Amino acid sequence: MSIDFAQTPVEDLYGESCFNDATMKARLPKNIYKALKVVQAGEAELTLEIAEVVASAMKDWAIEKGATHYTHWFQPLTGLTAEKHDSFISPSDDGTVIMEFSGKELIQGEPDASSFPNGGIRATFEARGYTAWDINSPAFLKQDASGLTLCIPTGFISYTGEALDKKVPLLRSMEALNKQAMRVLKALGNTTSKRVTSLVGPEQEYFLVDKELFMQRPDLKLTGRACFGTMSAKGQEMDDHYFGAIKERVADFMRELNYELWRLGISAKTQHNEVAPNQFEIAPIYSTSNVASDSNQLVMEMLKKVADRHDLVCLIHEKPFAGVNGNGKHNNWSMGTDDGINLLSPGENPQENAQFMVMLSAIIKAVDVYAPLLKMSASSVSNDHRLGANEAPPAIISIFLGTQLKEVMDCLAAGKPVPSMGGEKIELGASHLPKLPKDNTDRNRTSPFAFTGNRFEFRMVGSSQSLAGPNVVINTGVADILGEFADRLEKASDVNAEIQKIVVDTYKAHDRIVFNGNGYSDEWVVEAEKRGLPNLKNTVVSVPELISDASVALFGKHGVFTKEELESRYEVYLEEYCMRLNIEAGVTTEMAERLIFPAVSAYASELATSVADQKALGLKVPAQEAQVKALSEGMEGLLGAVKELKAANAKALAIEEDALKAASSFLNDVIPAMAKVREFGDGLEKISDKLTWPFPSYEDLLFTM
Ligand code: ADP
Ligand code: MG
Repeated sequence: MSIDFAQTPVEDLYGESCFNDATMKARLPKNIYKALKVVQAGEAELTLEIAEVVASAMKDWAIEKGATHYTHWFQPLTGLTAEKHDSFISPSDDGTVIMEFSGKELIQGEPDASSFPNGGIRATFEARGYTAWDINSPAFLKQDASGLTLCIPTGFISYTGEALDKKVPLLRSMEALNKQAMRVLKALGNTTSKRVTSLVGPEQEYFLVDKELFMQRPDLKLTGRACFGTMSAKGQEMDDHYFGAIKERVADFMRELNYELWRLGISAKTQHNEVAPNQFEIAPIYSTSNVASDSNQLVMEMLKKVADRHDLVCLIHEKPFAGVNGNGKHNNWSMGTDDGINLLSPGENPQENAQFMVMLSAIIKAVDVYAPLLKMSASSVSNDHRLGANEAPPAIISIFLGTQLKEVMDCLAAGKPVPSMGGEKIELGASHLPKLPKDNTDRNRTSPFAFTGNRFEFRMVGSSQSLAGPNVVINTGVADILGEFADRLEKASDVNAEIQKIVVDTYKAHDRIVFNGNGYSDEWVVEAEKRGLPNLKNTVVSVPELISDASVALFGKHGVFTKEELESRYEVYLEEYCMRLNIEAGVTTEMAERLIFPAVSAYASELATSVADQKALGLKVPAQEAQVKALSEGMEGLLGAVKELKAANAKALAIEEDALKAASSFLNDVIPAMAKVREFGDGLEKISDKLTWPFPSYEDLLFTM
């Protein structure tokens, strides 16, 4: 499958490694293709007969392209993807083989999956887990040195049906949203739409660093972030990187990345330099949540793979470098119908307006009521460096509506006439709602949940996270409130009056979540507290929200998570938190003791020898003497801090009985101890010989390209 990118038109290679709708249409018998579409639309069950035909067509297609293996591709709770390859071969008695792939093999797999984190949901004696085909996410071909593998996107469940992955709950939440949103649409008089789907367009941020430099940094290798390093003389203060001209080496990387993604049928669209030096962004065009989530996993994988070919390393950690911006993954979210209506578009006529106002109200209420869960969904040890750290959106959830829309809502709630928008006439249509401004031009980069004209942008999501988690919460939360509204609308004798009432009641009760101001300001923290908005500052206080009564009730009601599934995730996430900090503490210790200390000590003794030599000659060398003293004090401080870090880490590790207690100890004891080691390490970097410093500096990492 090697391709001369320059010679191949994009239209020819787009989707060539993807068993997409066009390929299916071309390769499946008409009746099977039609039947499959019905199954994909959720209107019929998949039969083995259909699966047999699809499997056979998929296999032929894959083998023609050169594939030898297939795999059920799934997303365990590690947040990464997993695959176990099986070849298509089926040996015959005569010593030859034929290539086979059955319907059953397509629908279901049984990887030995006992080693994936499951939070105690399965004892190892019943370690069987099943993977099940997600028929709405296209299969694709993946190339690596082992050859070409047909990858079938799947969900991963236990023997007893519990979700063991990120995808199954996402599919369940999409179903919940479909059900409740359809009830509302029907109650509003929509007779044409058959399905509502959640849509996501993620903006993925990342850093690129030179591979040779990266390889000299144990911290980057093992944790994805620099555990040491003083800020370079220049950072991002000149704003000269953001949207700046893309350097040749990066442009070359981006070109290849785009082609690779296009081949997979991933619609890479936007790319640009981000705020921090050597930081970039890529955004595909939005798609259904499950496909967007799968694609994003592939985007992250491709970023790393293509970077490697260019002797670069792609860092997707949320905060690789303290001192400059971190990486986010902005989750642009909306709902659309099968007949092409964007339910978050204010629209042109009163009917669309009413629909928009109801959807908007549901989102406002859902975000207010389920704010702790939303925050939880974006929490991780690495994202803690961003959220609330005065750079990314704060840890406090609020909604930005833009000036005009907020004014409309404020007036409606207060029973005041709504002022005319930009000279446009206000129409009181069937629904008695005002005509809405057509585009929402103002932007707010400090809001965690911002309306941007026809979608909401959830900006808290971490760059390395799976999109599934946050979208499970958004979908289910919104489904829940839409369900409430549907109950009211279905019962109402006057639907228009009820719409009006829903919009006004909801806004009055939940307008505390709406905030158009500067989310990074200290005043907002005070104001938010006055409003009673939660401020869950870190992962350790966020994860318990998963097993709160509200969470168990919400997810249980909509069939997204059982209590056991939530409890298992709670365990897994806390464990992950501890393990990652344990690794960071280990790297910090190692670098301090075995890289920084030896280098500084060599430099200091060289200086000391020179001081002694010069003194013996009767010369005065106060500057060198002072420097030796400073280095020696720094080293003493460093080793002292390492000792404390080791003790703190050992203490946290020893807490085995309670995951939350252990995580709290990592948060309260290990993180500060690590910061102290870094302070001494960075202090020593500032007064040491640059030429013999044992690993590349910020300047090297951020300004080499
Ligand atoms: P920004 O100006 O916010 O940086 P980008 O162009 O970088 O915007 O990314 C916006 C993302 O939002 C893209 O992935 C885009 O496809 C997606 N998007 C656009 N409309 C919708 C929608 N209705 N629902 C979900 N995502 C959308
Ligand atoms: Mg963008």
